[in-house]
Amino acid sequence: VEQTYVMVKPDGVQRGLVGEIISRFERKGFKLTGLKLFQCPKELAEEHYKDLKAKAFYPSLIDYITSGPVVCMAWEGVGVVASARKLIGSTDPLQAEPGTIRGDLAVQTGRNVIHGSDSPENGKRETALWFKEGELC
Ligand code: ATP
Ligand code: MG
Repeated sequence: VEQTYVMVKPDGVQRGLVGEIISRFERKGFKLTGLKLFQCPKELAEEHYKDLKAKAFYPSLIDYITSGPVVCMAWEGVGVVASARKLIGSTDPLQAEPGTIRGDLAVQTGRNVIHGSDSPENGKRETALWFKEGELC
């Protein structure tokens, strides 16, 4: 079964959006297989976003993701990767459609509330990166 890694970023946790976000994925019908509140170490943030290392915003992205606790989630289901990306909406919340998480709940790309894996391969890779085996059901 396909697997994706979804994460409520520190702004989403701070703003009290965790329940609403989990609820949207639950109502869609996907299966939650991992869940934890977690202060991300800098090394892990760097590994997670290593493909963006050359970008000008990379240092501020690492500061953002490590600025407070995140909520890590693993979700499972047929087509979950693409569907989660649709539920999340475009990277820039001002371009994200109303009805999506970013479209409804955010205004800035640099504070866009949530992460979702962009391919089934990265879904597996990121789930393994953020969760130990015993933490997944
Ligand atoms: P994510 O990987 O977090 O789900 P995404 O796949 O929509 O988001 P990416 O291109 O992978 O977008 O960028 C990762 C994250 O880096 C974005 O979600 C955002 O937080 C940040 N980011 C991307 N572009 C910019 C930018 N131009 N300025 C500031 N931050 C940015
Ligand atoms: Mg991405």
